[in-house]
Amino acid sequence: MSDCIFCQIALGKIPSEIAYEDDELIAFKDIQPLAPVHLVIIPKIHLRSLNDVTPENERLIGHLFGIIRRLAGEFGVAESGYRVVTNTGTDGGQVVGHLHFHLLGGQALNARIG
Ligand code: C5P
Repeated sequence: MSDCIFCQIALGKIPSEIAYEDDELIAFKDIQPLAPVHLVIIPKIHLRSLNDVTPENERLIGHLFGIIRRLAGEFGVAESGYRVVTNTGTDGGQVVGHLHFHLLGGQALNARIG
C-alpha cells in the first residue's frame, strides 16, 4: 500500500536500520527504542493487523517467529530473555496499521501488561 509507512520501509523507500531481510519479511531497529534491543519484524505483504491473518498466512507467521527467535540469539537476548508484542487495533495501542511484531530485550522489562 503506497500510503503505508511499513510498506515503504519494506520497499526500501523509507530508510531503516535493517537487521534481517528475505523475500517475505523484514526486521529493522525501532526508531524510538523502548529497550536496548528493540526490533520491529514485519511481513512484506500488507496485512493490517493480526485480525487480517488467515490460515493461508500460517506458514508465513511460523517463518516470522523462527526469524524472531534467530534475531533474539543474534542480538544476545535469547538467554537473558525478551518479549514479543503485537499491538492490535485502537485499544491494543497499534499506531502503524501494518502487522508487526516488537522484539524487546536487553534489560529487565516491566512485568505488568496493560
Ligand atoms: O505497535 P505500534 O503500531 O504502536 O508501533 C509502531 C512502531 O513503529 C513504534 O514503536 C515506532 O517507533 C516504530 N516506527 C519505526 N520506524 C518508522 C515508524 C515507526 O520504527 N519509520
